[in-house]
Amino acid sequence: MTRAPYLSSRLQGFGTTVFAEMSALAVATGSINLGQGFPDYPGPPEVLDVARAAIGTAHDQYPPGPGIPELRSAVAEHVHRFGGHAYDPDAEILVTAGATEALTAALLALLEPGDEVVLFEPMYDSYAAGIAMAGGVARPVPLRPPASGTGPWTFDPAELRAAVTPRARLLLLNTPHNPTGKVFTRAELGTLAALAMEHELLVLTDEVYEHLVFTGSRHATLATVPGMRERTLVVGSAGKTFNVTGWKVGWICGPAPLVSAVRTAKQFLTYVNGGPFQPAVAAGLRLPGEYFAGIARDLEHRRDVLVEGLTAAGLPVVCPEATYFATVDVRPVQPDGDGLAFCRALPERAGVVAVPTVVFYSSEHAHLGRHLVRFAFCKSDAVLAEAVERLGRMG
Ligand SMILES: *Cc1c(COP(=O)(O)O)cnc(C)c1O
Repeated sequence: MTRAPYLSSRLQGFGTTVFAEMSALAVATGSINLGQGFPDYPGPPEVLDVARAAIGTAHDQYPPGPGIPELRSAVAEHVHRFGGHAYDPDAEILVTAGATEALTAALLALLEPGDEVVLFEPMYDSYAAGIAMAGGVARPVPLRPPASGTGPWTFDPAELRAAVTPRARLLLLNTPHNPTGKVFTRAELGTLAALAMEHELLVLTDEVYEHLVFTGSRHATLATVPGMRERTLVVGSAGKTFNVTGWKVGWICGPAPLVSAVRTAKQFLTYVNGGPFQPAVAAGLRLPGEYFAGIARDLEHRRDVLVEGLTAAGLPVVCPEATYFATVDVRPVQPDGDGLAFCRALPERAGVVAVPTVVFYSSEHAHLGRHLVRFAFCKSDAVLAEAVERLGRMG
C-alpha cells in the first residue's frame, strides 16, 4: 500500500472509502445509488416539527455536556421500554454526536496503547479507524455466510476464543449487524457473555438498528445477559430509527464509571452537538410502540422487493434478518468472483450502484468477502422498483 503523505502512522490505510468512489460513480453515471445506507424518505412529522420549533430558541446554544435532561430521560425510558436496563439518566446516559462519536469516544477513553479489541467482520468501517486512533489493535473474527445461501451468518466459537489473547481488553459487538443483516441470537450472546466474563473484557455494543428487525428475528442486548451490566456500554442512534442520518444524535448507556470515562473523552471531541435536534429526538423516542413496529414492517416490505429483484436478476441473496442491507454472491454473473470489479462495472451494466463487501473486512480475511456485494433497500418504492427493473435487464 502507498503511504499517504502527512497522515500519521496510526491512520495509514484509512485514506478514502469506497463509499465516496461509488457515490461519485452514481452521480457521474446517473445511476440509482443503493451503495450508501441512508433513506430517501423523511422522518416522522412528530419529530421533524419539534426540531423546526426549537430553532430560534435557547436550544440553538450549547446544550449541557451530557445532553439535555429531557433527552437523557427519554433515552432511559426508551431503553427500558424495549427490554434494556433501567439506566439513571444523570449518571448512566450520555448523548453523543451520533453513534460514531459514542464508539470513538469509548475506544479513546477505555483503551491503553496495545490493548486488543475483539470484533466480528465484515465490520462497520469506523471501528477499525476508532481502534487505530486509540492506539489499540483489532482482533477480527470472521462471520461466514450460510453455505447453502439460506440461514444465518455464523461464527466459529473456536476462532473467537483464539482471538482473545492476554492483551484483549474489549469486545466490540454490532447487533443487528451491518453489513450482513444478522441478529445475534440469545445463545450467541450467551457465548459472548461467558467469554467476556472469563477474560474480564469490557463490552461495547452498537445497536443502531435495534428497531429494524424483521419477522422471525428478535433483537436482544448483551447488557441484559446476567453478569454483563457492569461491563457493558450500549450505543444507540436516532439516525436509523427516525430517518435522520444527518442529525447525528446518538447516545451511550452503561454503568456510571464507564460512562464517566467516555464523557471525559467526548467532551474534548465535540463537547456537544445537535441543540435543536435533541428535544426532537426525545419526542421520537417517546412515540408509541406502533411507530417502531411500523418502521420494521415497512422496511421488511422493501427488503422483500429488493431480495426478489436481486434473485430474479440471477444474484443469490443472503436474506437479511434486520437492517437496511442485503448481501449477494456475484459469482453467477461475474465469473472471476470479484465483487469490487462487479461494483465498478454495475453502473454501466445496470445503472445501479452497490458496495463491495470486501471493504468491510481486514486484509487478513478479505478473501472471505471477495465475492460478496451489499445493496441498500432503505429507498422509496419508486426508486426500488426502478432499481429492480434495471437489475433485471443487467447486461
Ligand atoms: C450508521 C451506523 C452507525 C453510525 O451512526 P451515526 O449515529 O450516524 O453516527 C454506527 N454503526 C453502524 C453499524 C451503522 O450502520
